[in-house]
Amino acid sequence: MNCLFCRIIAGEIPSNKVYEDDDILAFRDIDPQAPTHILIIPKKHYDSVIDAPAEVVGKMSEIAKKIAKDKGIDANGFRMVINTGEDGGQSVKHLHMHLLGGRSMEWPPG
Ligand code: 5GP
Ligand code: ZN
Repeated sequence: MNCLFCRIIAGEIPSNKVYEDDDILAFRDIDPQAPTHILIIPKKHYDSVIDAPAEVVGKMSEIAKKIAKDKGIDANGFRMVINTGEDGGQSVKHLHMHLLGGRSMEWPPG
C-alpha cells in the first residue's frame, strides 16, 4: 500500500485522531496552517473529489461541521477546503477535506 492516508487508516502510520466511524476518519494535520487544522478523509480510497460519490462528500461535510462545533470554532467561523489536482495544490492523492479555524484567514488564497 503506497497511499499515505490509506496507511494512516490502517494504523501503519500514527495520527492524532479526532473522529472515527465506519466510513470516515479525521485527524490533525501534521503541518497546521491554523490553530485548528483537521483533515477529514473517507476510509475508502478515492484519488480526489472527482472520483467520489456525492454521499461521501456530503458525509465528510457533515462530520467537518460536527468537529467545528466540538472544537468550538463554529462561532467565529471556519473554512472547509478540498484541494483537487495540480492547480488545486493537492499533494496527497487520497480525497481529504481540510477544516481550518481559530484565526482570521485571508481570501483569496495565494
Ligand atoms: P493537500 O496539500 O493534499 O491538500 O493536503 C495534504 C495535507 O496532508 C497537508 O496539509 C499536509 O500537511 C498533510 N500531511 C502530509 N503528510 C501527513 C502525515 O503523515 N500526517 C498528517 N497528520 N498529515 C499529513
Ligand atoms: Zn488512500
